[in-house]
Amino acid sequence: SLEMKKIQKWYGALHVVRDFDLYVEPGEFLTFLGPSGSGKTTALKMIAGFEPPSGGDMLLGPRSIVDVPPYERGIGMVFQNYALFPHMTVAENVAFPLTVRKVGRAETEEKVLRALQLVKMVEYRDRYPNQLSGGQQQRIALARAVVFNPSILLMDEPLGALDRNLREHMKIEIMRIQDELNMTVVFVTHDQDEALTMSDRVAVINEGRLVQVADSRSLYYSPQDRFVASFVGESN
Ligand code: ATP
Repeated sequence: SLEMKKIQKWYGALHVVRDFDLYVEPGEFLTFLGPSGSGKTTALKMIAGFEPPSGGDMLLGPRSIVDVPPYERGIGMVFQNYALFPHMTVAENVAFPLTVRKVGRAETEEKVLRALQLVKMVEYRDRYPNQLSGGQQQRIALARAVVFNPSILLMDEPLGALDRNLREHMKIEIMRIQDELNMTVVFVTHDQDEALTMSDRVAVINEGRLVQVADSRSLYYSPQDRFVASFVGESN
């Protein structure tokens, strides 16, 4: 589980994340949905450990992680622009989180194979990223993010760079993988369709505030205020 307790972020005089109080259950798919500049990425960066919060506490399971460096948090991450290492093969890319954790060779091979099977990319193991399509690269990024069994997977607009058909397909693939691994996911998007179709719950963010945290049905049929209504409602 992930718990954010009164989490704040200031950039100078700009209050970017205000009073985030949120509990993400184990195995839950939770999405931060909000317009550009609302603070979604900043919230995700604080969970990942790339930005320190200006206030509040954050727990992963029972332990506070605010002072834990990113690579010791056991968090997997996928971003919009894949960020695969161009000079490494697919297999080497996927193995990377294990290599830095000094996992032995046999175990690494086994885990890389399992991760590649999960994303259906085993036969591409010896290719280089520039020999793959955008969707394939995104699958490899996903395999790399889950290869070390992270306790939680963070995804920041992972479908943003894909064309429409591929995006629909990857939506389903991400949901399948999350289900197979029974993984806790925090997903970021400004696309209300993505949020409503993929998530167990959606946290709607506006100007750094959590406006409403609810399942898709409740958001759609009982929006808490006009902002939520206009952002997720039929008018969109
Ligand atoms: P988008 O969907 O456009 O990525 P977002 O909801 O993820 O938007 P953030 O990237 O979290 O929004 O940014 C929230 C606000 O914080 C914005 O006003 C942004 O300009 C500001 N901001 C983000 N990072 C920094 C930084 N390092 N220094 C100063 N201001 C920042």
